[in-house]
Amino acid sequence: MRFVLFDVDGTLLLTGGAGTRALKSALEQTYALPNGISGVRPGGKTDPQIVREVLQRYGGENRFTEENLSFLFPIYLSFLREELTASHNFLVLPGVRELVCTLSRKQDFLLGLATGNLEQGAQMKLERAGLSSFFLFGGYGSDAEDRTDLIRVAIERGHERIAPVRPECVFIVGDTPRDIVHGKEARAQTVAVASGSYSLDALKAYKPDFAVASLDPIEPIVEFLES
Ligand SMILES: [Mg+2]
Repeated sequence: MRFVLFDVDGTLLLTGGAGTRALKSALEQTYALPNGISGVRPGGKTDPQIVREVLQRYGGENRFTEENLSFLFPIYLSFLREELTASHNFLVLPGVRELVCTLSRKQDFLLGLATGNLEQGAQMKLERAGLSSFFLFGGYGSDAEDRTDLIRVAIERGHERIAPVRPECVFIVGDTPRDIVHGKEARAQTVAVASGSYSLDALKAYKPDFAVASLDPIEPIVEFLES
């Protein structure tokens, strides 16, 4: 059995800015911070980590408390639902549908998520994309602020559902250096895809086990995952 754990933003889909706009509205409403996440590069970071960095930059980290997050995140999710519905530039990335269909038909693959999104946020984005039925388990930003930890949570959930798999049979697919670095830290194999905001060369510098410009065509990726 092999686990293939996908990142969401920049790997499976692009929201057309819906996520950023929703967080901006939520930060404005809860912390009276009008600048959104400007100055904070979100790629590969978890939602709690992004909020912490925004608060460090604009408001003082002492506002980063469990209580404040439990107030902010439901507001963020309600803005996210609206923004996803309204987003004109929402896009499922090339090759994604074909790759997840192909892998999910194979007996020895189990598909999951390893994403910094809150679990509900990830589900909303996947629903909008028509992809939610393919992913049976996952680790999320709502499980851990640290990406390595949420990858470990995802693997653990996969183990609970099926059986323990060897680390070399767990694959992280993502579009940022953080997917690679934290994937390695969790002892998984890493597949980098340059469909987000990093170039193929920039990703290769982090020495992923496999790297592609796009998930289309799917054949080289399937071949690597089966090798
Ligand atoms: Mg990403």
